[in-house]
Amino acid sequence: MPEYKAPIREIQFVMNEVLESEKHYASLPGCEDATPDMISAIIEEGAKFSERVLSPLNQVGDQEGCQFNDGEVTTPTGFREAYQQYVEGGWPSLAHDPAHGGQGLPESIGTVISEMVGTANWSWGMYPGLSHGAMNTLQEHGTDEQKETYLTKLVSGEWTGTMCLTEPHCGTDLGLLRTKAEPQADGSYKVSGTKIFISAGEHDMADNIIHIVLARLPDAPAGTKGISLFIVPKFMSDGDAVGARNGVACGSLEHKMGIHGNSTCVMNFDEATGYLIGPANKGLNCMFTFMNTARLGTALQGLAHAEWGFQNSLPYAKDRLQMRSLTGKKNPEGAADPIIVHPAVRNMLLTQKAFAEGGRGLIYFCAQLVDKTKLADTKEKAEADALLAFLTPIAKAFLTEVGFESANHGVQVYGGHGFISEWGMEQNVRDARISMLYEGTTQIQALDLLGRKVLMTQGDSLKGFTKLIHMFCKENADNDAMKPFVEPLIALNKEWGELTMKIGAKAMQDREEVGAAAVDYLMYSGYVTLAYFWARMAYKAQQVLEQGTEEEAFYKAKLTTARFYYARLLPRTRSHAEIMQSGAESLMAMDEEHFIF
Ligand SMILES: Cc1cc2nc3c(=O)[nH]c(=O)nc-3n(C[C@H](O)[C@H](O)[C@H](O)COP(=O)(O)OP(=O)(O)OC[C@H]3O[C@@H](n4cnc5c(N)ncnc54)[C@H](O)[C@@H]3O)c2cc1C
Repeated sequence: MPEYKAPIREIQFVMNEVLESEKHYASLPGCEDATPDMISAIIEEGAKFSERVLSPLNQVGDQEGCQFNDGEVTTPTGFREAYQQYVEGGWPSLAHDPAHGGQGLPESIGTVISEMVGTANWSWGMYPGLSHGAMNTLQEHGTDEQKETYLTKLVSGEWTGTMCLTEPHCGTDLGLLRTKAEPQADGSYKVSGTKIFISAGEHDMADNIIHIVLARLPDAPAGTKGISLFIVPKFMSDGDAVGARNGVACGSLEHKMGIHGNSTCVMNFDEATGYLIGPANKGLNCMFTFMNTARLGTALQGLAHAEWGFQNSLPYAKDRLQMRSLTGKKNPEGAADPIIVHPAVRNMLLTQKAFAEGGRGLIYFCAQLVDKTKLADTKEKAEADALLAFLTPIAKAFLTEVGFESANHGVQVYGGHGFISEWGMEQNVRDARISMLYEGTTQIQALDLLGRKVLMTQGDSLKGFTKLIHMFCKENADNDAMKPFVEPLIALNKEWGELTMKIGAKAMQDREEVGAAAVDYLMYSGYVTLAYFWARMAYKAQQVLEQGTEEEAFYKAKLTTARFYYARLLPRTRSHAEIMQSGAESLMAMDEEHFIF
């Protein structure tokens, strides 16, 4: 049976040593409680819960799936009980406002817990994950009364939340959405329409579900400028209790490729009572709070499937005996050598490892930026906001693409057994596949990065990040041991800017050039971004090794993995650079009617 073991040492390395979390928390007001002892204790408890409670339910969730019966959804065996334990452990409130029952810890600590929960069982983790986004949205845009009524219950975990954007005819282009909201004399709204693909839209884990819904007011302008945001509860709130049933119900469950343990619902809103959050017609702006939380959450999914794939590939590769090593027997007593001796198998294992560990560096860095956007002073907050806006599409799209690749390597390491359900490797691939689709597909993240974030800021957002790389390289200019990392990084950092200028210039003549280059631009950006984090990890490892340590093997492995990343993954930038410069012509030349020939 596949298993999850929380990689606590890896987590500590990135958090404490590479990203210096102690210094980070000390610099932020309100983080006084985030002491190293407190953080370690939280991580250890989160690890136990993920390993012992959630991991054993991962295959159960896949095999049983959710059941739909007359509007009610039953989650797989054990999901409901696990949620009760999660609530009793106080986990939903971890990174939320004490004024509403939260523990007030920084978001970056919540990210570590989400990583462990999500890697152990992604389908289960989506239920509290969606609630977290709903809480952040209410915290930022809700009125005091809305916070008191809904946020408090979400923070305690008694209720859960959803995000309702997608409709049958639109997912990417939300400007097309049709769900209506009619104002009522008492200040509420009657919300009517159909939403599809709503994760955790209906289930049996909590007493009430708070839907955060995009809809149009009667006089709203067309397109994205006419969308407003509403709270629509499943049950009306009645003081501290749950009141009458509202006019929102699950019409059916989708049958899908993966994440079977999470309910994906068609939600019908039939004059359901709703309450406006934030200003009228500014709903999409307010929803961005939710979407940004969800995008970083989905970036975590990439890390989760890479980590899970690696953890479960490694013991198999050490155990499975096939063929002999090219350089002579490594297991002379056995009938054959373990497959880990073969370079091609090592390539797959190291790819999974390098993406998982590099991805952790990127995500935890983003989580620290989130802390700063919430707690830092004005100047630092503005810088963090800009950097986070730039890195979010990279983290979301790049890490989910390479997470899927890593999950796929897991199947390959197992050979034919990888295709057989028992081992869990094929589930990991099926569960990973959605991550490149929801929360904005890879193509949409790529347009966001190149079009909105980079070209529309005249490259300023890119410079915000390349400046960090530049400073790191400068600080290590005289460090011979870091040369193998610093030299390629300097060259790529320069090339990144040049490629951006070239595409920008072409886009002035023909805007199709942006769409034609965007995905390769994003992947290129992802490889360079991870190279920066691998260089920082290599630097830390090198420093510790120089000072002397009892954990020599651990730090040497970091250096070896960093070298692997630079030798065998970073060169993928070459093909992305070439393709992104090849222009739109070869894509646009084919007449639509000629595709068939
Ligand atoms: C399991 C699951 C769970 C989900 N959970 C939720 C949820 O909780 N809440 C919610 O609101 N939604 C949810 N979704 C919906 C999801 O976010 C959408 O499916 C996704 O945003 C894509 O929208 P679409 O399916 O309408 O595809 P489309 O928008 O129709 O896109 C189809 C294809 O066209 C491409 N495309 C579209 N426009 C462009 C462009 N301008 N340039 C380049 N390519 C383009 C896309 O990348 C994609 O490849 C979920 C979906 C699934 C399958």
